[in-house]
Amino acid sequence: AMVVLGIVALLLATVLGHILSGRAMVPLREAYEKQRQFAADASHELRTPLAVVMASADLLENDPSITSPFLKQVIADVRDEVKKMTRLVSDLLLVARSDNKALKLKLQKFDAAELLSQTARLMQPLADKKHIALDIRNCDAHVIQADEQKIKQLMLILVDNAVKYTPDGGEVHVGFEKAPQGRVRFFVQDTGIGIAKEDQRRIFDRFYRVDKARSREMGGNGLGLSIAQEIVNLHQGSIEVTSTLGKGTRFTVELRTKAKAKTA
Ligand code: ADP
Repeated sequence: AMVVLGIVALLLATVLGHILSGRAMVPLREAYEKQRQFAADASHELRTPLAVVMASADLLENDPSITSPFLKQVIADVRDEVKKMTRLVSDLLLVARSDNKALKLKLQKFDAAELLSQTARLMQPLADKKHIALDIRNCDAHVIQADEQKIKQLMLILVDNAVKYTPDGGEVHVGFEKAPQGRVRFFVQDTGIGIAKEDQRRIFDRFYRVDKARSREMGGNGLGLSIAQEIVNLHQGSIEVTSTLGKGTRFTVELRTKAKAKTA
């Protein structure tokens, strides 16, 4: 019996040692890496055929020989769906690549306050359509060193969501506020539908949408906030949400004045 016990103990020790040394994790990591690479390759390969379908739909849309209202509607529908899919594919590609950390920051100096008011103004036509008052406040110069293109994408995601999830006649406020030393902080606040407490943590997950039908109707795919989170992480900043259901939502982003180039 002692011999059997000894063998069992030895086996246990070996298995434990294996797990503790991290070697058991290798197949899991490899599988994850394969899956990520597959997502990146698939979305990349989908871009070309989608562009071809889009160009064909454009051709049909402008063809004067097509006069049937029914056909015109079908073509418009195809175009709309292809447009959505193109966005989804490019978002997917970004997400899959960022996992790979192949996503590198192009650091440069720019005025983040100016960028925020520019980006918010891009959404003005959409806000006007819904009679939403878009208010840009406290945008004195805040020069930071970061990836301007990505920070713009981050701002766009937040302002776009604020307008999307605010009913007609509401308000969207964007602006800067005081942040502790060496950091800048901006916010995007709306008087929209709000997000329930239990959903607030999950909205940053990929493909998570509180109301799938509503989000889809608005052209959403549930990737926006996960991309926003990724951009913030790459800059070693933070993003927070506070929200009251039926009252409105506020997203606050804090960034370093000088982002460090991430190597890993
Ligand atoms: P989507 O493409 O669906 O907008 P996001 O990742 O940008 O995807 O957001 C995830 C979900 O979080 C949305 O589907 C929506 O339910 C919720 N959400 C995001 N921003 C807001 C907001 N400003 N007000 C209310 N709900 C929001």
